Amino acid sequence: MAWLLNHYKCDRCRRRWADEWSCMCDDTCPHCGARDMTPYESEELTTLIEEEGKEFVVLWSPETAEHDPDYRELGRFPTREKALEFLAADQ
Ligand SMILES: [Zn+2]
Repeated sequence: MAWLLNHYKCDRCRRRWADEWSCMCDDTCPHCGARDMTPYESEELTTLIEEEGKEFVVLWSPETAEHDPDYRELGRFPTREKALEFLAADQ
C-alpha cells in the first residue's frame, strides 16, 4: 500500500485541507463536519526526502504500511541533489 497526501475541498463550506492516508479515501471536513468529501488531488508520499541537520535522509514507506507510513531509512546524502539522484536510479 502506498502512502498518500490527499487534498480535499469541502462542497459545503468551500474550505480546503489535506490529510495523509494509505488510500485515496473520503474524509470528513475538519471545518464544518461535512462527510464523505472525495480528494480532488493525491500526492504520492511513498518516498520522502527529509532534511536532518546537514544531511538529507531518503525515507520509504513499505507496501505493508496501513495505519501509518512506517517509514524506513534508505540512505543519507550530503545534498538534496544526491538524494534525488539516488531515488531516480532506484526507479
Ligand atoms: Zn466544510
